[in-house]
Amino acid sequence: MDCIFCKIVNGEIPSYKFYENDKIIAFLDINPDCDGHTLIIPKKHFTDLDDIDIDTLKCINESAKEIKKILEKKLGCAGMSLIQNNGSVQEIKHYHLHIKPYYKNKKSIEMIKYPEFINDPKDIYDKLKSSK
Ligand code: 5GP
Ligand code: ZN
Repeated sequence: MDCIFCKIVNGEIPSYKFYENDKIIAFLDINPDCDGHTLIIPKKHFTDLDDIDIDTLKCINESAKEIKKILEKKLGCAGMSLIQNNGSVQEIKHYHLHIKPYYKNKKSIEMIKYPEFINDPKDIYDKLKSSK
């Protein structure tokens, strides 16, 4: 199947992956709306909310709880939104949960409106992987 996210799971396309277990991986969005914009995806291909099974959904949400803690600790974010698109608003047809952190700085509340405030995902990845 010609699916970008399956290729990321298989390592055929590189990604800034910073969290993984037997069912899911989490990596930084290539075109982030904010610093630390993360996608959690199942390793197995499911299209959307209709397609995915409850066990995998549970695993994704359990992982979101862990990833929330990592983003808070490493990036110092003040809040975050979890978003999952389906149908006409879903660009990549492999189920994924977006996690979008927000920061205390006024402009960073909606970084997407201030792209100059968004850092290179490589720098965010380095922060997430640092031992500090
Ligand atoms: P959707 O609209 O399907 O919920 O969002 C898909 C997301 O995947 C977008 O935010 C887009 O930037 C991201 N994306 C698309 N292709 C790639 C890729 O090759 N690598 C990564 N890391 N993110 C991607
Ligand atoms: Zn896929």
